[in-house]
Amino acid sequence: MSRFLAKRLSSIEPYTPGEQPQGRSFIKLNTNESPYPPAPAVCAALNSEEAERLRLYSDPDLRELTAAIAEYHGVLPSQVFCSNGSDEALTFAFLAWGSQDGVAFPDISYGFYPVFAQYYGIDALPIALKPDFTLDPKDYMGLGRMVVFANPNAPTGFAIGVDEIRKIACSNPDHVVLVDEAYVDFGAESALRLLDECENLVVVRTFSKSRQMAGARLGYAIASPQLIEDLNRLKFSFNPYNVNRLTSLAGTLSVREDAWFCECRQKIINTRAATTKGLRQLGFEVLESLANFVFARTPQLSGEEYCAKLRQNGILVRHFTNPRIADYVRITIGTDEEMQTLLAVTCTILQEAKG
Ligand code: PMP
Repeated sequence: MSRFLAKRLSSIEPYTPGEQPQGRSFIKLNTNESPYPPAPAVCAALNSEEAERLRLYSDPDLRELTAAIAEYHGVLPSQVFCSNGSDEALTFAFLAWGSQDGVAFPDISYGFYPVFAQYYGIDALPIALKPDFTLDPKDYMGLGRMVVFANPNAPTGFAIGVDEIRKIACSNPDHVVLVDEAYVDFGAESALRLLDECENLVVVRTFSKSRQMAGARLGYAIASPQLIEDLNRLKFSFNPYNVNRLTSLAGTLSVREDAWFCECRQKIINTRAATTKGLRQLGFEVLESLANFVFARTPQLSGEEYCAKLRQNGILVRHFTNPRIADYVRITIGTDEEMQTLLAVTCTILQEAKG
């Protein structure tokens, strides 16, 4: 840190992204990416002709992409805001709607929420999940501040239903309730259908997980046109060309190719069921996940030890140091073959531990 850094920023604890290894090849189950490629039309379109167009700025209004997403979800283009990863939509959201009265989010959730709050000097209220890691909607009623939660939550994979989300939104009428649906396509109910009833609801989505495009950095928010205007006000005060040309094209083509999306997501759901079963047979406790990962622990090893042993065997998973969840590891769902390797390696590790 230099002596020039503003004092306010020196206390920020930045978010730690999962490892992106260079060189050695791992079975990569640590950052909730998809093991499958983007839609075929996306791969076909990213050619040298498109590369040549990089000399031009992207469309600051992202009209084609926004229209494609709006059509896909049956909303107006004025209800869609596209962002550089959903992280960017989230950061604008915190600034736009959390700066005044603060923001509440679950104590165990996406690790970026407290960082966004610190970054903007926003008062953050972490709300403890219940001992079984479920979220009690009652804890989020009438808080008098912005509410943010991931549904399904990460790293637990648990979700709440639309009726519960409605209650949270209705009980906080003067503040935005933001539902981060990064993992919703793997089996949870979306809050999108509440948009007409709840003018304070914002739904954030990403192309990183169920659309196999983490490296493209594309996300979006859906909300009332007025709330979307707020996000655009911030974007046009910060980075008008926030989504690059190639990503914008890739995103448009991805949403138009529904069959590939459905096929890949179904494969992940099936592999998740098989992985959950396999780990339970090995004596693991595995939370019933609705996301593209499972959260699991074994009585035989600490989360940290299990994570380290897997790494030695060429498999990356994610471990968090927060004491409440330190026994667990989060395992992204890969291909069937990758997960079979994970189970076989795990079996050997457990035998060695018994030793
Ligand atoms: N929300 C949640 C709950 C996440 O786990 C992630 C991925 N780490 C994101 C948002 C951000 O995803 P991206 O910026 O890749 O869209």
